[in-house]
Amino acid sequence: MFKRTIYSEDHEMFRDQVRRFVEAEITPHHATWEKEGRVSREAWRKAGENGLLCAAIPEEFGGAGADFLFSMVVMEELARAGAMGPGFSLHSDIVAPYIFHYGTEELKREWLPKMAAGEAIGAIAMTEPAAGSDVQGIKTTAIRDGDDYIINGQKVFITNGGNCDILILACKTDPSQGAKGTSLILVPADTPGFRKGKLLEKVGWKAQDTAELFFEDVRVPAGNLIGAEGRGFYQLMEQLPQERLLQCVRAAAALEAALDWTVEHVTERKAFGKTIGDFQNTRFKLAEIKSQAVLMRVFTDRCLEMHVAGELDAVDAAMAKMVTSETLCRCLDDLLQMFGGYGYMWEYPIARAWADARVGRIAGGTGEIMREIIGRQVTGGR
Ligand SMILES: Cc1cc2nc3c(=O)[nH]c(=O)nc-3n(C[C@H](O)[C@H](O)[C@H](O)COP(=O)(O)OP(=O)(O)OC[C@H]3O[C@@H](n4cnc5c(N)ncnc54)[C@H](O)[C@@H]3O)c2cc1C
Repeated sequence: MFKRTIYSEDHEMFRDQVRRFVEAEITPHHATWEKEGRVSREAWRKAGENGLLCAAIPEEFGGAGADFLFSMVVMEELARAGAMGPGFSLHSDIVAPYIFHYGTEELKREWLPKMAAGEAIGAIAMTEPAAGSDVQGIKTTAIRDGDDYIINGQKVFITNGGNCDILILACKTDPSQGAKGTSLILVPADTPGFRKGKLLEKVGWKAQDTAELFFEDVRVPAGNLIGAEGRGFYQLMEQLPQERLLQCVRAAAALEAALDWTVEHVTERKAFGKTIGDFQNTRFKLAEIKSQAVLMRVFTDRCLEMHVAGELDAVDAAMAKMVTSETLCRCLDDLLQMFGGYGYMWEYPIARAWADARVGRIAGGTGEIMREIIGRQVTGGR
């Protein structure tokens, strides 16, 4: 069998700790959070206390000062448990890095320690009702007024949007421009004029507090700018490969877990005097899916290795995201089928995994946008 080689003994020791945490603090509550549409703040604080948040942020800013792979261990363990509610990875591996890489010293000191402790929950808001794939088409504005920016606009489908204490807002500081007029600004959620809309009712990710956000004359200091004015689009493009890679890591772990649950089911469940696993069709399907799971794992690990070495580019990440998200959906559909009617029941993890997986082909850039990115390179931009 293929042996994973990217993780060290330290990573594996951390995995044991994370697995125990997930078993004790996440899995028992997840069904309740699904009904409530959000993960409890207590779980966030406990995750912070146990070192599950912002692992890769340096210690001087409250993180663990560990490498990126420690964060991936957290992602894998949540995916393995089918726990899609906690938006820990978006918080630790997307929002915190924007502040760390591009924010001022003051912003880093103010927010990163609170994020690492699980006291401040982070979100990133790019998508708007009329602009998703076309990020340059966003309409939310931040207009300079003395030492402040005044923000007006609306965002939609924002992960951690219901719980967030801060968000990285993509907006236009120069509405007459496309990419060059786009900037990122940190907005604390208690700023007057900022309002969270209702939690959105989704097909999957039921415990994830995905929300609409509204901005009406929201005034924030100019120092909340993340990086330079007009650089927002380029910063987003710089960070997107990491964001897409996270989704691949989640997909690979989710498929392995679903395969385990299914093997357990088909070796117990009987029909026509045999187990479901005794039918050749079942074994053939499982053989195909196992092979796909190994392919996904090997490919994802190689991408992770490249990312850690600073070699993963936007096209590599797009290929990885496209292939893993689509493979996961196809395989989960076949795995669900092996559960018969039980596979369609929400209480079965396979049903939730099937519903949860679908968003992987949409969020963080759709499959079609991934094809655009890859296709442009394949044809040499012609
Ligand atoms: C659960 C969930 C969580 C999310 N979390 C976040 C978040 O935290 N922050 C955030 O900012 N956003 C978030 N999103 C938004 C997500 O990134 C967008 O939904 C996604 O980028 C697609 O944008 P859209 O929904 O506006 O679809 P559209 O852009 O309107 O696309 C509609 C369809 O047209 C296709 N299409 C668009 N352009 C092209 C093209 N050039 N060529 C071919 N086909 C094309 C698309 O692929 C898609 O099939 C989230 C979405 C979901 C569902």
